[in-house]
Amino acid sequence: MSQNIETDVLVVGGGPGGSAAAYHLARHGVDVTVVDRSAFPREKVCGDGLTPRAVASMLKMGLDTHDPGYERVMGLRVHSRSATIDLPWPELSSWPNYGLVMPRKEFDSLLIERAQKAGARLMEQIEAVEPIVRDGWVRGALARPAQDKDAEPFEIRARYVIAADGAASRFAKPAGVKRVESRPLGIAARRYYTTSYHPGPWFESWLDLWEGDLLLPGYGWLFPVAGGQINLGAGLLNTFKNFKEVSAQRLFKAFETMLPADWDITEEHADGKILSGPLPMSMNRKPMAVPGMVLIGDAGGLVNPFNGEGIAYAMESGETAADLIHEALVKDRPGLVQTYPRALTERYGDYFVIGRGFAKIIGKPAIMSRATKYLLPNKRVMAFAMRVMANLTDGKDGDAQDKLFYLLQRLASMR
Ligand SMILES: Cc1cc2nc3c(=O)[nH]c(=O)nc-3n(C[C@H](O)[C@H](O)[C@H](O)COP(=O)(O)OP(=O)(O)OC[C@H]3O[C@@H](n4cnc5c(N)ncnc54)[C@H](O)[C@@H]3O)c2cc1C
Repeated sequence: MSQNIETDVLVVGGGPGGSAAAYHLARHGVDVTVVDRSAFPREKVCGDGLTPRAVASMLKMGLDTHDPGYERVMGLRVHSRSATIDLPWPELSSWPNYGLVMPRKEFDSLLIERAQKAGARLMEQIEAVEPIVRDGWVRGALARPAQDKDAEPFEIRARYVIAADGAASRFAKPAGVKRVESRPLGIAARRYYTTSYHPGPWFESWLDLWEGDLLLPGYGWLFPVAGGQINLGAGLLNTFKNFKEVSAQRLFKAFETMLPADWDITEEHADGKILSGPLPMSMNRKPMAVPGMVLIGDAGGLVNPFNGEGIAYAMESGETAADLIHEALVKDRPGLVQTYPRALTERYGDYFVIGRGFAKIIGKPAIMSRATKYLLPNKRVMAFAMRVMANLTDGKDGDAQDKLFYLLQRLASMR
């Protein structure tokens, strides 16, 4: 049996959310311990796309975004059967004007190393089994070596716990956290290839995926990876018609077959298997905080329903949780941590309401196919759509597009 451990804050999971939370806590001088059931570097199924929003969170962690391991991306290239359009990232004062791509195997290692350098303690291959609850407050976790399910659990006692254990999050369940079934959930598959086709500085996305003459519900992406690889993927939402009949793997195969033969996206150019995973969206867990514990990133279902982006939201919620816990520790006011769900709702609530409406609309193939046909060739409409979908804005003081975006969110808040 391992020895019991004491720490001020225990972070369960060392993905982007957990690393960001640990980094910001450590920078505040808080004693913080991260446990992860894997050892870094570890694989994580993802598109590896870092939008300007994610880049902003990386810069706050002091990461060098000029590292040659990143592929730099200047915007979105959107394809449909009828048109292709290039949409550069908007020039805004609140967000950088570039995105990046780096395989999560390397990216997550860089993040956790940053947290460790700032002073966080990392315990790898340790699984947090369940929260320790005393007098109605979470006071740490029972943990054990990840490879030894029969090992007697030991205690990690903490004043606060951050659940950052990802999309399949089970850790917070015994403390009463449940999935909100009415919120959208995505499922997506991806695979790496070394191909002759290198898309250059764009996130490429396909809005209509065809299996022969059958239009499938879903979307596809092709992201450039530094060193000549690509990350190819396809996904769909549970709001889509026939969601249950179309697996992410089938969608992926249809997408792969659709692409031009001279791009070499074939079995012999593949690096590894097709792997899939869930995308829990729009804060699909409730409550987001119980006394002594908060949920961040995918554990709280924080993926953006517009574009499937989760890394930025995991890092931002990690920072918000870290700031609140730090304040609660300094002021000795544990109740402050309970304001975390309100902070999230203020930041994302209205936006996610619009996102949920969007997820319902794009689930209807007839509407989707008309929208792609008529709206895609219109660059101004698409530039605005991209701003909304990537949640990149200067707010109400920005330009005309920002003002319209702000108005939409105000209307959503009046629902
Ligand atoms: C196919 C696919 C493509 C995607 N593409 C993109 C994209 O291009 N861009 C984007 O922004 N987002 C994308 N996402 C979403 C993104 O991957 C997630 O939103 C992001 O990883 C969330 O980070 P996180 O820190 O919350 O969780 P994770 O990254 O999942 O990290 C959770 C960590 O917790 C650990 N853990 C789990 N349980 C325990 C336990 N009990 N004890 C200890 N440790 C535990 C795990 O080992 C893991 O390291 C994609 C998702 C999928 C499935």
